[in-house]
Amino acid sequence: MLNKNFYEETFDKFKDSWGEESEMRMCIEEMSELTKELCKFIRYSKNDKSKENDEKLEQIKKNIIEETADVLICASQIKRIFGDSAVEEVMDYKIQRGRKIVDKWIEEHKN
Ligand SMILES: [Mg+2]
Repeated sequence: MLNKNFYEETFDKFKDSWGEESEMRMCIEEMSELTKELCKFIRYSKNDKSKENDEKLEQIKKNIIEETADVLICASQIKRIFGDSAVEEVMDYKIQRGRKIVDKWIEEHKN
C-alpha cells in the first residue's frame, strides 16, 4: 500500500478540486456499483455449474475487488470530511459490541 501521507494529500486534492458534494455523490455511486456486483455474485453462484457461468463468476469477482477498492477509497474520504477520529470512535464501539454478540452466539451454539 502507498503511505498514509500520500493518501491524505490525495484525498485533500480531490476535495479541494471537486468539492465535498462531489465526493459524497461519488461515494453513493461507488456503493451502488458494489451493491450491484454483490447481488450478481449471489445470483450467479446459485446457477447450475457451466463453463460460461464460471467465467461470468470470475469476472464478477474481479468487479467486486475493484468496486470494494472504490468504496473503501470513497468511505475514507467521507470519514476524512466528517471527522476521522469521530468515525473511528464509533467503529471501535460497534466492533466491540459486535464481538460481544458473536462471542455470546458462539458460546450458545457450541455442540
Ligand atoms: Mg466503481
